[in-house]
Amino acid sequence: MERVWIGIGSNMLDPKKQVDQSIWCLSALPMTKLIAFSSYYRSRPLGKKNQPDFLNAIVILDTDLSPQVLLNYLQYIEKKQGRIRLRDDCVWQSRTLDLDILLFGKHIICIPELIIPHHGIFNREFVIYPLIELNDRLVFPNGKIITDIVRTVPRNGLDLWKS
Ligand code: ATP
Ligand code: CA
Ligand code: CA
Repeated sequence: MERVWIGIGSNMLDPKKQVDQSIWCLSALPMTKLIAFSSYYRSRPLGKKNQPDFLNAIVILDTDLSPQVLLNYLQYIEKKQGRIRLRDDCVWQSRTLDLDILLFGKHIICIPELIIPHHGIFNREFVIYPLIELNDRLVFPNGKIITDIVRTVPRNGLDLWKS
């Protein structure tokens, strides 16, 4: 059983509904238990600026699934909730749902389809602030401590999602 941290993002088609539904789907995964989820945050979009703000949240799961199988399930949930990839090389575009594996226990994975810890974990405000909300004593697989990382990441207008 491993403790896994999933980052959720949505900026299309009722983001709150998308995120609520994705958390429900994550809680229903086989061999997996929902442990906690963060507040919902509003963040400014990366990349193209002429798109709506994102709703971001983080979910903690305990799972017996392997990282690759979990990734397949996440991509299935994204697809089910209507995510369309306009072009494969076009990241950071508007999307109904984005599910990233941020941490998978203490594992470090570096294969073409899966990089863990997720590459945005140390510099994205919409990752680090929900993480510290859930565990202010988190230690990353490289030994870094969350309270040290958070000092280096400006909030960039990150706020709680109010609607
Ligand atoms: P970013 O990864 O910068 O947040 P993105 O989430 O928009 O960008 P996607 O188009 O959703 O990028 O994903 C591109 C590919 O990233 C996926 O096909 C997946 O194989 C790969 N990937 C690598 N590491 C991870 C991870 N930790 N969690 C989810 N996907 C990952
Ligand atoms: Ca992402
Ligand atoms: Ca993604």
